[in-house]
Amino acid sequence: MGKACFYCRGRQNVQKLYSWKEPEYFRLYCRDCIDRIKKEEWKSKEEFLDYYSNKVHYNRLDDKSKELFQRLKREE
Ligand SMILES: [Zn+2]
Repeated sequence: MGKACFYCRGRQNVQKLYSWKEPEYFRLYCRDCIDRIKKEEWKSKEEFLDYYSNKVHYNRLDDKSKELFQRLKREE
């Protein structure tokens, strides 16, 4: 069992990438994939923050997601 990129299964220069959704988990990506994945992660985080900045949307979140939202807002 070796370390392989989660995206392309390549084994060159594999690095950990933590998700903003679940900071306790990470996936491994190779150098070729990691920049694109980081960009997608950033984009989905921005969309999450944008969408739930609306109070009506925010109130529909569960407690765990509200906590996540507040934490991300503080980090911005
Ligand atoms: Zn890869």
